[in-house]
Amino acid sequence: MDLGLRGRTAFVAAASRGLGRAIAEALAAEGVRVAVCARTDGIRAAADEIAQQHGVETLGVVADVTVPADVTRAIDETLARFAAIDILVTNAGGPPAGPFESHTPEAWQRATALTLDSVVNLCRAVLPGMKARQWGRILNVTSIAVKQPVDGLILSNSLRAAVTGFARTLANEVAPHGITVNNLLPGYTRTERLVELAEGIAKTKDGSVASAYAAWEQQIPMGRVGEPHEFAALAAFLASERASYITAQNVAVDGGWIRGLL
Ligand code: NAD
Repeated sequence: MDLGLRGRTAFVAAASRGLGRAIAEALAAEGVRVAVCARTDGIRAAADEIAQQHGVETLGVVADVTVPADVTRAIDETLARFAAIDILVTNAGGPPAGPFESHTPEAWQRATALTLDSVVNLCRAVLPGMKARQWGRILNVTSIAVKQPVDGLILSNSLRAAVTGFARTLANEVAPHGITVNNLLPGYTRTERLVELAEGIAKTKDGSVASAYAAWEQQIPMGRVGEPHEFAALAAFLASERASYITAQNVAVDGGWIRGLL
């Protein structure tokens, strides 16, 4: 299937590694020009690697998505280079794990800036251009936790629900302009975030990293964690011309982990 993406431009937030990086690569493989951001200089090398591997133009911008001025600058730099942003992928690192009583009010504020405000600010920055061109794709990386909250991740469970409400409402507002808004729900996927979660569980439950993985694998009908490229394939499809009538959806890539019917 030709996804019809060649020549489009994407901005993928938080893409030096993990799921964001995999999405940037999947889009580049379809001929999309890709701007990527992360907090450190390494993002420029990541952008160069993607350009070399896939033969598309890329741009690496150092920006912290929790800082509104960084978000504005990153989008401005991308527009100065590529003139338009057709596809926005909102993403960021995950907020810290831990039970309710372990999180201070400041921790809640930091998590809100990371998980909710970053999405709002990125959407605010790209929407005028998408509306002007009457075409756009907004993809938010959330989590399986929006369908089945994960014990011990109270910050993530709470704030991703807020992103889900935001996206559902925004989808209706922008649909008349040819813009779709969908959420991608990763299940347990092999990234450094997952290694960090496994190490945290190993410490608190006095087990090993291997036993943390084994416990997750037991809950997953496919019997294994996912690979980032398996998740990123969904992003490429939902960003594509072929997905023009799919909006306001929450689509999991979880090997069957969510037990609900819908
Ligand atoms: P990761 O930690 O491997 O990668 C996170 C990326 O975000 C890195 O490139 C990092 O540099 C960047 N980043 C972090 N904070 C940033 C900031 N403030 N500004 C700019 N860039 C920033 O994580 P991942 O596994 O790729 O996960 C991506 C998102 O998906 C996270 O929110 C995570 O909680 C969520 N998620 C992941 C899984 C999984 O199993 N991997 C499952 C469910 C949800």
